[in-house]
Amino acid sequence: MHAAASASIVVIGASVRGTSLVERLLASAPDLLEGLALTVHVVDPYPPGSGRIWRAGQTPHLVMNTVAAQSTLFVDATVACEGPQRTGPNLAQWCRLVVDEPRTAGPDAPPEVVAEAHATSDWSNPSRLLYGHYLRWCFAEILGEAPAAVAVEVHVARAVDLRPTSPGFVVALDTGAAVDADAVILATGWLGRDDIPAHPRVIAPDNPIDQDLSVIAPGETVAVRGLGMGFFDTLSQLTEQRGGRFEPGPGDTVAYIASGQEPHIIAGSRRGIPYRAKPDFGAPPFFPEQRVLRAALPALIERRPVDFGVEVLPLIERDAAYDYYRALDRVRPGSVRDLDGMLRAIVEGTAPVDVIAEAHGVRVADRLSLRAAEDPLSAGPGSSVDEAVARFVRADAAEAALGLRSPLKLALHSYAAARSAVIDLVAFGGLTPASFAAYRRFLATAASFGSGPPLRRSRQLLAAHDAGLLRFTGPDLSAHPQDDHVRIGSSDGGEARADWLVEAWLPTPSVERTGDPLLGALVRRGLARPWRFADGSVSDALDIRPEDGGVLGADGTPAPGLFSVGVPHEDVRVFTIIAPVPGTNSSVLRETDAAARAALRAAVEHATASRPKEART
Ligand SMILES: Cc1cc2nc3c(=O)[nH]c(=O)nc-3n(C[C@H](O)[C@H](O)[C@H](O)COP(=O)(O)OP(=O)(O)OC[C@H]3O[C@@H](n4cnc5c(N)ncnc54)[C@H](O)[C@@H]3O)c2cc1C
Repeated sequence: MHAAASASIVVIGASVRGTSLVERLLASAPDLLEGLALTVHVVDPYPPGSGRIWRAGQTPHLVMNTVAAQSTLFVDATVACEGPQRTGPNLAQWCRLVVDEPRTAGPDAPPEVVAEAHATSDWSNPSRLLYGHYLRWCFAEILGEAPAAVAVEVHVARAVDLRPTSPGFVVALDTGAAVDADAVILATGWLGRDDIPAHPRVIAPDNPIDQDLSVIAPGETVAVRGLGMGFFDTLSQLTEQRGGRFEPGPGDTVAYIASGQEPHIIAGSRRGIPYRAKPDFGAPPFFPEQRVLRAALPALIERRPVDFGVEVLPLIERDAAYDYYRALDRVRPGSVRDLDGMLRAIVEGTAPVDVIAEAHGVRVADRLSLRAAEDPLSAGPGSSVDEAVARFVRADAAEAALGLRSPLKLALHSYAAARSAVIDLVAFGGLTPASFAAYRRFLATAASFGSGPPLRRSRQLLAAHDAGLLRFTGPDLSAHPQDDHVRIGSSDGGEARADWLVEAWLPTPSVERTGDPLLGALVRRGLARPWRFADGSVSDALDIRPEDGGVLGADGTPAPGLFSVGVPHEDVRVFTIIAPVPGTNSSVLRETDAAARAALRAAVEHATASRPKEART
């Protein structure tokens, strides 16, 4: 039981965003509580901090695709938010704290976590296990700094329903308990859908650590659909996590030493090529200048909605070309006649980039082709699709190894970074509905350019291929589950028989097709609805108010005190699938700050208008 005048806020989901919400609530509480006491209830079936994806006990083999110095949970001076700035270590800095004091890693940290902290540099791709320990440390640290008037209670449970009271809510948990709330913030992340068909021979899309691959026996054939980060996780699970070893070979090569426990892998996707390796910059990736796009953004934002394909993408491509030709001239002096003139022409957009390149004497073979980078399969006569894909991976790994000396990698790095730069332009209906498909295509291409694995993973992929363990089907992999096997087809007419299919991709949550009881209940109660494009077509996203994530009900009015952040808003808040990056005015931290402050205001209003609230758990 709390002091008579007390407010209660329930945060549902306690991973990256849920933890940031708790931090933001505690940071702003002294400002906004108006003398009330506050209990923050944190609800997640998984331990707070790491939540489900980053939870303890998972294999250290699965790695982040972002680097240690670019992962944080704390608000720095670049974050344009109302709440107070409260700094804290990023993941790389935290590793140094662990080196100084191993107990920092947590009482249950296995020795390999401490060992990894020792080996982590600013630009390491840490294991998800390590990041999870960092997040849990953050959660504990944040609680340690809680103002005297604020208590935090953790409920190890899943929220399954939310019933409005007047004012406020009752949150029902799957333990049978219920929590009274003056305000609720959802940070539920990746939620399941009900439109993914189940089949006994198909391992459905999920977080890789929750996919049971033990059913795949050594020597069986498994098709893996999806060649993004999930694919590299699956590859690790079926090779090094079955006792095989990747060992350094001559030069930059890697050899695979089989354990005999591996299945045969057939790998494909719609595009048919794996995500590209991250360039080895020997430092955390820099933030590209994007001078063309950034100069145009204020005017574009002013006249939203804009056509993405016509008005935005060409700017992104010109920025990529700028970085490419500047690097080309640096690594191969003389490739460009009058570099300054060429760069000026690209910025001014006086002509298509290829015409400018022609005018500046750039050989055709030296020119940037983003189209070719997007669709690099050019299997010549006598070359199978499998060989063509392997050749692509090899060439891409060689470019990645060049780091800053690869004009192509610099161009693709700029292109991929534009995903963050355009968030404020695109979010909440900033694009014409007809051009949203072009934006989605851009996101997919940018992900394949810039959200790929660390270079060593691409080399491991080549090693598995060279060891005869894996072959590529090329584009348009199709899968037809049968009674006791899965028939696999590809665009070149090839057919194969697989014992299993692993879906190595994650669907974004959908309001209309949700498999999540809580989101389903919100919709049934009229408390939530899907966001619609301006032409009336329904998106997958949960509809919210732009300024604070207030959830909009069936009739478009917000249920006072109900907020939501993160991945369930992908179509509307856009590019939500990133963790906070320090020094970048993180959209994630702006989002959690605004929702936390709005929830505090709503909770104070409700608590002062009603009886004191207490947890009924
Ligand atoms: C496998 C994988 C790897 C990734 N790797 C990276 C990476 O390297 N770098 C990067 O920047 N991003 C990565 N991401 C993107 C990732 O989405 C974000 O970085 C981040 O985890 C999102 O945080 P979140 O808190 O919004 O959602 P989530 O991390 O999805 O957390 C949501 C939490 O809500 C809980 N929850 C859901 N419903 C309920 C309910 N009804 N009741 C109670 N609790 C509930 C879940 O248990 C979970 O703990 C990865 C994503 C995945 C799936």
